[in-house]
Formats: sequence, structure tokens, C-alpha cells
Amino acid sequence: MRINADIMAELKQAGENASEVLRVALTRLRGRIALVSSFGAESAVMLALAAEIDPAVPVLFLETGQHFPETLAYRQELARVLGLRDVRDLHPAPGQIERRDPEGQLWAFDPDACCALRKVEPLDEAMIPFDAWITGRKRTQAATRQGLPVVEDAPGGRIKINPLISWTPRELDAEMTRRNLPRHPLTLRGYPSIGCAPCTRPVAEGEDPRQGRWAGQAKTECGIHVRKAS
Ligand code: SF4
Repeated sequence: MRINADIMAELKQAGENASEVLRVALTRLRGRIALVSSFGAESAVMLALAAEIDPAVPVLFLETGQHFPETLAYRQELARVLGLRDVRDLHPAPGQIERRDPEGQLWAFDPDACCALRKVEPLDEAMIPFDAWITGRKRTQAATRQGLPVVEDAPGGRIKINPLISWTPRELDAEMTRRNLPRHPLTLRGYPSIGCAPCTRPVAEGEDPRQGRWAGQAKTECGIHVRKAS
């Protein structure tokens, strides 16, 4: 465990109060913590709360090369509007795409390998200098996320912090409206959960939002949150 007991106690005391969790995390772990964001449909609230406390927090964006152009434009817009000063685009290591996915079609026949190449490995590399990371996961997003705590152990002795874990889609929507935050343009076109373009489809009214991700496949997570703490 890289985080001392005092900080862990403060995080625990913050409970599920997102602003307080972020205040403790971003002030007590300054320089040791990064925020990982997909700049997706529900990312704006977390980024806005974090920017209020520390607009220089490193924000890690997995630039897979497979995003919708709307996501790339939204990443720029949100960073500008919120004044985020350190958004980092993470790419696969040089030569890896050419070696392992020269046609750019790996997603179609081995999506786990594609996510490993474009997401898991670049994030592992980027996390080396950090002891903790902030995620935007919520319990309501998927059955696999229902038991998630605010603070959890992560590989390498790090911790993962999930400040918005108890927020519902309705609460997020209200907060976005209250703050007048820009919306991801694809949310207006039926995409409540947005990942890479080849692996995301719009969902019908009443459908689980995550059903638009890797539709028709057993896969439900990209892999960055799947491995257990070591
Ligand atoms: S979400 Fe799809 S395109 Fe993106 S890295 Fe994973 S498999 Fe590849």
C-alpha cells in the first residue's frame, strides 16, 4: 500500500460525498494522483468538480485512435471550458499498432487484445509515476459495478478512487444542467454510454445504457478495471 493510514482515514471520513472525496484526494495526494477520463457522456461532472479543486490535476485520456470525432472535439471543448491544464492523450507504444493491428480491425475479432493494446498497456505505462487514480465509475452503470466502494485497492499497491460511485444518471443530468456544462453531442443521438466508435452503438428507449457497448459480445469492460490488486 503506497498511501498512508492518515490519508486513507480522511478518504473514509469523506464517505460518499463526491466533492469532499475529491478535495481530500486532490489536495492530500497532489502530484501523486491522476484522473482517468473517457470524455464520454457522463464525464463532465467529475471533471468540473476536480477542476474546481485543482485544474492542474493530470487527466489521462486513452487516445485509442478509434474514437468518434465528436469525442475528440468534446475532449478539447471540456478541457477549455473547465480550464483543465494537463490533459494527456495516451497512445499505444511506438510500433505496437503496426505490429499487432496493422489493419486496424483487431476490435472485430479479438476485442480483448485490442483493448489491451490501446487501453490497458498505455494506462499501465502512464500510471507508473502515480500512486492513485480517480475514475468516473458509478454503481448504476452495470451489474458488475453494483458492489463498488468509493476507495478500492488497485494493482501495484495503488488505490482507485470512485467519487461519483453512488450518483444516479438523474443526479448527474441535474448537475450538468445546474452547472451549464457542455453535453457530449452523441448523447442527443441515442448514445448514453460512449466508447470507441467500432464498439459502441446507440441504445433504444428503456435499454440498459451499457448494452450499447460491445453489443452482441460477452465483453462488458475494456479491461482497465478488471485486474485485481496485487
Ligand atoms: S473499445 Fe473496441 S476499438 Fe476501443 S480499444 Fe477496445 S476493442 Fe479496441
